[in-house]
Amino acid sequence: MKLEIDESRCKGCNLCTMVCPYKIYRPGSRPNRRGIYVPDLDQPERCPNCRLQGLYGRRLCGVCALICPDQAIRWVPEKPFEPMKVVIEY
Ligand code: SF4
Ligand code: SF4
Repeated sequence: MKLEIDESRCKGCNLCTMVCPYKIYRPGSRPNRRGIYVPDLDQPERCPNCRLQGLYGRRLCGVCALICPDQAIRWVPEKPFEPMKVVIEY
């Protein structure tokens, strides 16, 4: 699963940056089209929900999604891995 912030909902309150035990959210550095500083994600694959939600069949943390007043945080299924051809030159 992949962690996403829905920019159309987020109001930049930064509550998520305060609660995440893995410090995955960082205060936004650039305003979006609406002038909102949406938090940046720092290696979101570290989130246990991203790694283990599929395996356990349920959310393992979710504090950020619970505290977000605008329901802007979600996990979306990732596309299946697509093998690609790699050419190595010696
Ligand atoms: S679910 Fe927990 S660990 Fe994952 S981003 Fe949210 S607060 Fe952080
Ligand atoms: S808690 Fe929700 S609304 Fe607030 S900054 Fe985080 S994602 Fe945006």
